[in-house]
Amino acid sequence: MANLSDLYQEIIIEHNRSPRNFRTLPDANRSAEGDNPLCGDRINLQLRVEKDVIQDIGFQGSGCAISRASASLMTAAVQGRTTEEADKLFAAFHGMVTGHPDAPVDTAALGKLAALAGVRRFPGRVKCATMAWHTLHEAIEGK
Ligand code: ZN
Repeated sequence: MANLSDLYQEIIIEHNRSPRNFRTLPDANRSAEGDNPLCGDRINLQLRVEKDVIQDIGFQGSGCAISRASASLMTAAVQGRTTEEADKLFAAFHGMVTGHPDAPVDTAALGKLAALAGVRRFPGRVKCATMAWHTLHEAIEGK
């Protein structure tokens, strides 16, 4: 039987190797920078938001595999969504990575983001996984 954690590992490796939306947006109207000094992860996030919909999103930065894969998965997950949906997804994601290691994961709500469920077994890596999301929240809230 194929192991679910092996599949998730594959997704993280693949997104780290070929991150989605790893680019700058010339027509961005929101942006924010985030960093995680505990690990040395940094991110610069740009969005184009129109009528509360995230039309386009791109990120630049450097960091560990978890932070890059998480940023890549996040951009793919929120593109085309409303900012309210993005915030709800952030809440679900945050609940997953800070939850009990044996708690069930809501894969229907989280989709590929569930690949990062293993992070909750490593509390020191939670900030690597959530940095991009905190930065997204700041960019959405920003003036
Ligand atoms: Zn990291």
